[in-house]
Amino acid sequence: MSFDILITGGTVIDGTGSPGYRADLGITGDRIIGMGNLSGSDAGKTIDATGLTLSPGWIDTHAHSDGALLIDPQHANGLRQGITTEILDQDGLSYAPLSPENYRMYRRYLAGLLGEPPEDLDMSTMAAFRTHYRGVGPNTVCLVPHGPLRISVVGFRDAPIRGAELDKAKDILRQGMADGARGLATGMSYYPNAYSDTEELIELNKVVAEEGGVYVTHLRDHETDRGYGGGGVAEALEIGRRSGVKVHFSHYRTQPDTAGMVDELMAEIDAAKAEGVDVSLECYPYPVGSSFPLSFFNGDFHDGGADAVLERLADADERARYVNELNEYGLIGKTLAENVWSVIGPESHKYLEGMYFGDVAEERGVSVAEMIVDVMLETGLSVGYRGAPPHGTKLWRQVEADVMQLLSRDDYMIGSDAIPIGEFHHPRAFGCFPRVVGRLRRRLGYPLEQVVQRLTQNPAERFGLTDRGVLAEGKFADVVVFDAERIIDLSSFEDPRIHPAGIPYVLINGEIAVDEESCTGVLAGRPIP
Ligand SMILES: [Zn+2]
Repeated sequence: MSFDILITGGTVIDGTGSPGYRADLGITGDRIIGMGNLSGSDAGKTIDATGLTLSPGWIDTHAHSDGALLIDPQHANGLRQGITTEILDQDGLSYAPLSPENYRMYRRYLAGLLGEPPEDLDMSTMAAFRTHYRGVGPNTVCLVPHGPLRISVVGFRDAPIRGAELDKAKDILRQGMADGARGLATGMSYYPNAYSDTEELIELNKVVAEEGGVYVTHLRDHETDRGYGGGGVAEALEIGRRSGVKVHFSHYRTQPDTAGMVDELMAEIDAAKAEGVDVSLECYPYPVGSSFPLSFFNGDFHDGGADAVLERLADADERARYVNELNEYGLIGKTLAENVWSVIGPESHKYLEGMYFGDVAEERGVSVAEMIVDVMLETGLSVGYRGAPPHGTKLWRQVEADVMQLLSRDDYMIGSDAIPIGEFHHPRAFGCFPRVVGRLRRRLGYPLEQVVQRLTQNPAERFGLTDRGVLAEGKFADVVVFDAERIIDLSSFEDPRIHPAGIPYVLINGEIAVDEESCTGVLAGRPIP
């Protein structure tokens, strides 16, 4: 036979969890058309994978690259990790469906999390949104984001969606699903999402359930009085129970203060699953996270969106009120002071990237809370932060062991939660997947076949990604070729922009995106499914 690309001599781990076996892979166009002993075949290009492992491309179920892909379509940080598909619109924070005016406003509101893509893009529908991701590095999957959905219907306001407005929101959601979105995404630490209540989310998710989609949720920790059972896990499960939707929990794992308590973490969810609620989950393998400082504030602080927030921060009385709120938020003292500015938009303030909150406050001679509101104002909200890892490795290693234990469950996947902008972002943006497949799998002794299934077939089936997530004849040729003994993340909290080692080849839709551990410049990603 003759192929465009032939990968010879490797061990195939096909994504289903079954044991690896020796096979060659023949690719023509964007599909795998031959598997097995293909010696004697010829090909336009042959990759010798002797001693290497072949896996379906890794699927990142939680990526904040909505803006980054529009700024730098190559997206080396994802491709070099072996990620071939990213699910966008996470936490319900993205750009469509929005009018031009609302897109410009929400783009600025989200700048500290998603960066600053061009402001003249058509984001009026999910279909328009998807066109912007043709010809970027990875494939992308979209979800209808709750924030833009609310802004489209009731503006950036604290209003429940009911009656005619709810009907309108359902129509927009239904159209978004028809345009290719695979579900609804929200994040209840964020606005305007947290202005919603459980009833609104149940009604919206009835549409998602009808269309066979997934409700992806970062659990509520703001406006908790509006959430069934005080928000959090109880609310998410109630939404699944009453709407019939499939529920997917974003970044759900133990924290430094709950390290080792996996059974307690899962008890309520397993009880609901036993009753028939359909739940899947994801996590990332690090003990601390990253976000933007808007998430520190509750309720009316956000009313009206970016300009309204900046006006309030510029007013001395309002500023004092928000400094107080921040002091009361429960994050004060050591924890807050040890966060690090990870992303700063304006050149004038770039020097703050990588600095601890506590150090910046001391340098300025103000409290940490005052420093935060001042930097938000000075940078026009184009600012993000990340946590600092625990001191010492004992706690850190326990959280990692918990992550791998969670991933051994068949309802778990990996979502990097990557925010690939700025110079001092969280190391997960460059290292999440090789950290799981290499460092942690080897240290903690999990089977490679099981780990690969969680990154491939599991998410492909959950999110309905046709012909992806397994290596078999007829499937799309999204392939990672890696060295199972050598693959490792090299990005760290001190130096987060180092690419991993041990992943020499990555193919996306039958094109070689990474060749001998270098990006080829090929932009073969498509909006899928
Ligand atoms: Zn997130």
